Amino acid sequence: MKGNITQIHDCYGCGVCAASCSKKIIKIRLNKNGFYQPYIDEPDKCSDCGICLDVCAFNHKERALKPEEINIRSWAAWSNDEKVRRKCSSGGIGFEIGKQLIEQGYQAVGCRYDIREQRAEHYIATTVEEFIASIGSKYIQSYTETAFNQIKRRGQKYLVTGTPCQIDSFRRMIRKFRCKENFILMDFYCHCVPSMLAWKAYIKMLEPKIGKVTYASWRNKFEYGWHDSWLMGMDGEKTSKPVDWHDSYNLLIREKKTFIQSLRSKGDLFYKFFLGDMCLGPQCQNSCKYKYDKSSADIRIGDLWGDTYKDDQKGVSALVAFTEKGYDVVENLTNVSLIEHPLEIVAEGQMKTNARAIDTYPLVMYALRRGMPIDGVIFKLLDILQMVCTKLRLMIK
Ligand SMILES: Cc1cc2nc3c(=O)[nH]c(=O)nc-3n(C[C@H](O)[C@H](O)[C@H](O)COP(=O)(O)OP(=O)(O)OC[C@H]3O[C@@H](n4cnc5c(N)ncnc54)[C@H](O)[C@@H]3O)c2cc1C
Ligand code: SF4
Ligand code: SF4
Repeated sequence: MKGNITQIHDCYGCGVCAASCSKKIIKIRLNKNGFYQPYIDEPDKCSDCGICLDVCAFNHKERALKPEEINIRSWAAWSNDEKVRRKCSSGGIGFEIGKQLIEQGYQAVGCRYDIREQRAEHYIATTVEEFIASIGSKYIQSYTETAFNQIKRRGQKYLVTGTPCQIDSFRRMIRKFRCKENFILMDFYCHCVPSMLAWKAYIKMLEPKIGKVTYASWRNKFEYGWHDSWLMGMDGEKTSKPVDWHDSYNLLIREKKTFIQSLRSKGDLFYKFFLGDMCLGPQCQNSCKYKYDKSSADIRIGDLWGDTYKDDQKGVSALVAFTEKGYDVVENLTNVSLIEHPLEIVAEGQMKTNARAIDTYPLVMYALRRGMPIDGVIFKLLDILQMVCTKLRLMIK
């Protein structure tokens, strides 16, 4: 008996097991803590083939890409199109790579925000216009089941972008099904993903003010520049009409100053959740094997924080090629600026070890599970409690 993913707990929620199952009985849903997890609805139909466990990165200690397949080269990179660079989270290199591969006949699997479900989700863009919705980091876990199931293993070429854990499973799947030549895989430096319960609590707090959310943006360089771009921009039914993603490329990229954003908030509560490591996934704390120079992707992107570009306010992407295939993509890019640097410069400031939850984590998760309102007052109390815990720990030492 080979078993199936019911023996796996607190996993990456990448959805690759669902896409690999020939019986189509694996579904991805949120668990009680607000993280995606696979479920088998009709266990009697399972044939015990074990494929779901083979493709699962969580189920393997080693990453899919072996050390001998890796040859790292790294660059500072940005789009030469000022409008693209301004709209994207860092230098817009993720968008340029997708756009140029689509122009060469690829389809691009990326992440957009779905206002109906109020979640980040993967989708397949077949045109550059469709790819525009993927611009910008959505700092929440992405739901992948539908898009990954729609990918054809033969007869079509794809760029697939995702968190490093999603990409590690994806590489296992394309190896298993012997179709790796049809795929280019791109991940990004990944701090962690916060619980979707936090995102839901955040939206619940905003909706009385803005109405049902019609657009969410996590970063914005317009006001304070790239280094200080941690701004939540939210639109709702009370404040503006939803973005029409069917508008033309020129309208979406060039003419609209931004994708609207009526309510902009800096030092926002959501960032306290996310960057404060208040409600990150157990998988990110205990099982992430993708920090710094560790990846199963062909290409990695990120923000090039660090000293070398500290005066740049337009945005500089970190760009790393791990494989020959990744290097080929970079070498063929046009309309971008590339400056090769050692990895220590390109990845300066990136985490080398996993994020760790703060002391008040169980309390935060308890409150989120019970749907308690999370507002400024609660955060102040949690801050005070955290300070007390830190002091106590120092005293005990
Ligand atoms: C959860 C998360 C954590 C991150 N942590 C770090 C970090 O610690 N350090 C760092 O330098 N960079 C981090 N990034 C990446 C960074 O925010 C930028 O995405 C990156 O700099 C590329 O920017 P860009 O301008 O090239 O393109 P962008 O336009 O920002 O491209 C973003 C790409 O990421 C994909 N994407 C967006 N959100 C998600 C998601 N939730 N799940 C899967 N794919 C998604 C989109 O499809 C798009 O292709 C993180 C991103 C996410 C989503
Ligand atoms: S990590 Fe991904 S492949 Fe593994 S069980 Fe979880 S959802 Fe499935
Ligand atoms: S921190 Fe690691 S485990 Fe968590 S989402 Fe990112 S890549 Fe996956």
